[in-house]
Amino acid sequence: MALIVQKFGGTSVGSVEKIRGVAEKIKGFRDRGDSVVVVVSAMGGETDRLVDLADQVGKKPPLREMDVLLSTGEQVTISLLSMALQKIGVDAISFTGWQVPIKSDGAHGKARIESIDAEHLHAELDAGKVAVVAGFQGISPSNDITTLGRGGSDTTAVALAAALKADECQIYTDVDGVYTTDPRVVANARRLDQITFEEMLEMASLGSKVLQIRAVEFAGKYGVPLRVLHSVEPGPGTLITLEEAMEKPIVSGIAFTHDEAQLTVLGVPDRPGIAYALLGPIGEANIEVDMILQNVSGDSSSDYTLTDFTFTVHRADYERARELLEKAAKEHGAREVAGRTDISKVSLVGVGMRSHANVAARMFKALSDENINIRMISTTEIKISIVLEEKYMELAVRALHSAFDLDKEPEEVDSELTPQAEQ
Ligand code: ADP
Ligand code: ASP
Ligand code: MG
Repeated sequence: MALIVQKFGGTSVGSVEKIRGVAEKIKGFRDRGDSVVVVVSAMGGETDRLVDLADQVGKKPPLREMDVLLSTGEQVTISLLSMALQKIGVDAISFTGWQVPIKSDGAHGKARIESIDAEHLHAELDAGKVAVVAGFQGISPSNDITTLGRGGSDTTAVALAAALKADECQIYTDVDGVYTTDPRVVANARRLDQITFEEMLEMASLGSKVLQIRAVEFAGKYGVPLRVLHSVEPGPGTLITLEEAMEKPIVSGIAFTHDEAQLTVLGVPDRPGIAYALLGPIGEANIEVDMILQNVSGDSSSDYTLTDFTFTVHRADYERARELLEKAAKEHGAREVAGRTDISKVSLVGVGMRSHANVAARMFKALSDENINIRMISTTEIKISIVLEEKYMELAVRALHSAFDLDKEPEEVDSELTPQAEQ
C-alpha cells in the first residue's frame, strides 16, 4: 500500500475514450490498495484554443482574466475524470486549485506555489476516495486564480507529492519515459532507465519539455521520487533520482530549443561598466538573457579598444530587446546593432562530463563533419551548449546523438571510442 500522486498530461486525457482509459488505470492502483491523488491537465489542445480565443478579443489580454480563462481547461478534465471513475465503481472527488487550496504568489501566468493545505485532501483519501486535482492552477493571496506557466501541471503534481509526503510522483505522458533526446526528432533516441535531478534540470531548462523545469526543481529540493511513464503502455519508465548510475555515460541527453534570437553590438568602447550599460535596461524590462559573448577586437591604432558584444534572448523578446539595445548602444557610442532570429541552441548534458576532458572537441568534430558552423558556445560542468543556424538544428542533434553513441545501450559502447581522462 502506497500513497501515489499520478499526473496525466493533455494528450493522455485528450478524449472521453482516453479519460475512460485513465480511470481504468487508476482503478488498478486502487484495487491494489494504494491511495491515489490524480492531477490532470486540460484536454490536449484546449489551453492553446483558449489562448487563441483571448487573442481574438484583443492583443495583450489582462493577465488576471487570462488566468481565469486558462484555468477552465483543467476544470473540465477533473470533472470528467471523476465521473468516469465513479462510473466504474471508484469513489472519486474533484478539486480545483483553490478548493485544495494550492496557494501561490500573485504572478499571473507564471505563479509559484507557496504552500498547500493538505488537510482536505488527506480527509478524502482517508475516506477511501481518489482525489482528482486540477493541474496548472493556484490561488493568490488576494484570492485570484493564478496559473503556473505552460506545462505547469507537472509542478502541481510534484508539489502535491511533497505536501502529502507521497511515496512516488508518477508523470504519465505520451512517451514511455525520458529519452536521450526528443524522440520526435531522433527516431532511434533511447529511453533512459534513470537520470539524475541535476541532469533533468539542465535538460528541462535547455528545452526538453517532457517535464516542466519547476517540477524538477521542486522534486530535487524536496526529495520527491519522480518517474515518467507512458499513460497507456506498461513499462518501468524513467526514474529521476539523486543517485548517479554506476555505468554513467559521458553524455546522458541532448536538448534543443528553436526559439532563440541573437543580438550583437558592434564596435563598442571596451571600458568598465559597458556590459551593465548594455544589458541593464534589458534586465529591467524583465527580458531573460541567455548566452553572452564579449570579444576584444584589439584595434591598437585607436585610443581605446573596441569590442563586440553578443547575447541571446527568447525570440518572442527580440523586438523589444533590440529597441532597448539600440538606445543603449547609441548612448554609449557603439557603431551598430545587428541581430538575427533564425538561430537555435543545442546542448549536450551529462554528469559524466565532469570526468571526461575531450567532450567539447568531440562535439565540435561531429559538427564539423557535417559542415555545421557554430556561432556561440557556452559550458558548465555538466553541459555544453552551442548556438547555430536553425536550419541545421535537427541535423546537429542527429549527428551528436550518434557521435556520442546515445542510440546504443551503455554496455554496447566500445570503450576505445570513449577515451577517458579520469580525474
Ligand atoms: P504532456 O502533455 O503529457 O505534459 P508534453 O508534450 O508536455 O506531454 O511532454 C511529452 C513530450 O515531450 C513528448 O511527446 C516528446 O516529444 C517531448 N520530449 C522532448 N524531449 C524529450 C525527451 N528527452 N524525452 C522524452 N520526451 C521528450
Ligand atoms: N494545460 C496547461 C498547458 O497546456 C498545463 C499543462 O498541461 O501542464 O500548458
Ligand atoms: Mg507537459
